[in-house]
Amino acid sequence: MVSEAENGLRHYGNFISGIWQDAEQGETLTLKNPSDGSELALIARGTAADIDLAVKAARAALSGAWGGMSATGRGRLLHKISEAVLREIDLLSVLEARDVGKPLTQARADVVALARYLEFYGAAADKVHGETLPYQNGFTVLSVYEPHGVTGHIIPWNYPMQILGRSLGAALAMGNAAVVKPAEEACLTILEFARIAQQAGLPDGALNVVTGLGAEVGAALSSHPDVNHISFTGSLRTGQAVQAAAAQNAVPVTLELGGKSPQIVFADADIERAVPFLVNAGIQNAGQTCSASSRILVQRAVYEQVIAAMSAHYRTLTAGNAETDLSLGPVVSERQKAIVENYLQLAQQDGLKIAAQGEIAGDAPQSGAYVRPTLLRDVPPQHRLAQEEIFGPVQVIMPFDTEEEAVRLANGTAYGLVCGVWTRDGALQLRMAHAVQAGQVFINNYGAGGGIELPFGGVKRSGHGREKGFEALYGFATLKTISVYHG
Ligand code: NAD
Repeated sequence: MVSEAENGLRHYGNFISGIWQDAEQGETLTLKNPSDGSELALIARGTAADIDLAVKAARAALSGAWGGMSATGRGRLLHKISEAVLREIDLLSVLEARDVGKPLTQARADVVALARYLEFYGAAADKVHGETLPYQNGFTVLSVYEPHGVTGHIIPWNYPMQILGRSLGAALAMGNAAVVKPAEEACLTILEFARIAQQAGLPDGALNVVTGLGAEVGAALSSHPDVNHISFTGSLRTGQAVQAAAAQNAVPVTLELGGKSPQIVFADADIERAVPFLVNAGIQNAGQTCSASSRILVQRAVYEQVIAAMSAHYRTLTAGNAETDLSLGPVVSERQKAIVENYLQLAQQDGLKIAAQGEIAGDAPQSGAYVRPTLLRDVPPQHRLAQEEIFGPVQVIMPFDTEEEAVRLANGTAYGLVCGVWTRDGALQLRMAHAVQAGQVFINNYGAGGGIELPFGGVKRSGHGREKGFEALYGFATLKTISVYHG
C-alpha cells in the first residue's frame, strides 16, 4: 500500500477493489505538514479514469461477497473495524495531527469518534425496519429499505476521520458500496483507514478511495452516471457545483455546507459556565469547523462582562505545532492562512476593534501556518466579518437589547447550521429554540461538531439532508413498496 518514494516520503496509491494502485496517469501530489511546512507524503493524483475504475469496483462488490452479506453480518463487521481503528489510535492520531495541523488531543478524539460512528452504525445495521401498509382487501403491502447502490463521498480536510465515519458508517450499514474522495489537503488517515478496514475483513470493492484534486476527481465522481447517491461536505460553492453535476443524472445529494453559527447570551445566563463554550466553539480546530460558533450575541446588560471574561480566556490561548498539543495548531495550509489574514486586514482597514488575542508559541516554526486567535468587538451585523464564514480562529461579538432583536440577528445571515442559547428562563429557551433557523439548537451548552447520535445538517445555505444519528440511515437507503395480491 505504502512505498517509499526516492526522496524518502511515504507514497500512497489509490485503493480500488482492495488493491493499492498508482493513478492511471501515474501522477502524484505532495502533502505538507502545516505545523512547519515540511513535506509529509505523496498521494496519487487521480483522474476521471481512476474514478471510473473505482465506481466499477463498487458496482461489482454489490453483486459479490459484500452484496451477499446480511444486515447483521455488516453490523458485526463494522464493529470489528471500529475495534481495529482503536487499536491503531496512536498512528492515526499522529498522522491526523501532522496532516491537518490539529493538536494531538483533538486528533485522538477524532479517532475515538470514527470508531464510535462505526460502533453506532454497526449496532443499527439490522434495526432499520420497513412496514406493512393497510391497502385493499386481498393485498399485503410491504415497504422495505434497500441501499442506493454505489455511494460517492466527498470529504473536506478539517475532520477527515469524523466525516468519513459519519457518512461511510451509515452507507455501509445500509449495504451500499462506497467511493470516497478525500480532500487533497489532508487524506492520510482515510487511506490508512482503508488498510485497517480491509485487514478487519471488509470485502474488496465495498470501500474504494481515490485521491486527487477536487476539480478533477471530485468533479468526476459527482458527475459519474453510475453513482446512485452523493454525500458532500465542504464549501457552499463546491456544494452547488456537486449538486448541479448530480442533477444531470437525477441523483440525490446530501449537502453539509458551512455556517456562521451564533451563540446568544441573555442577561440571566450562567456566564461562568458559558464562557469556555463561547470561546472553545470558536477556536476548536483553529476555527476550521463547519459548526464553529463564530458570532457571539450578548444582551447589553452583560455585554461588557462577557467581553471581559472571554478576553481573559483568549489571553490563555496559544497556537503551536500540533504535536506539542497546545490550545490550537496552525490552520491547514498557507492558502488558508492567507484567507484568514485577509479578513483580519479588512477588520483593521474598517476600524473594527480587537477585544483580545491569543498568542503564537515562541517555538512555533516560522514556516508553519499560524494565526493568532482573535476576538473582535462591536462588529456591525452586516459587516463581512459578521456575515461570511472565515474558517479560522476569529470570532465577532455584538450586543442586542430584546429577544426579537436576538432572533433577527441570529437569523440574519445566509447560513443556518447550529445555534447556542444561554438563559435560565425555560420559556425563553423554548421560544428561542423554535424561532432560530438552524439544524441543531443547543441550550446552555454547545457541541461544535459533536454528537454522533444527534442528527446534524443545515437549513438555508448550510445545506440539506441529515447525517449522524439514526436518521442518517434513511438517507443512505431508498424505500421500495411491494404489493402482493393473494385474494
Ligand atoms: P471545498 O468545498 O473546497 O472542498 C471539499 C471537498 O470537495 C474536497 O474533497 C475537495 O477536493 C472537493 N472538491 C473541490 N472542488 C470540487 C468539485 N468541483 N467537484 C467535486 N468536488 C470538489 O471545501 P473545503 O475548503 O475543503 O472545506 C471547508 C468548507 O467545508 C467550509 O465551508 C466548511 O464549513 C465546510 N464544512 C462543512 C461541514 C458540515 O458538516 N456541514 C463539515 C466540514 C466542513
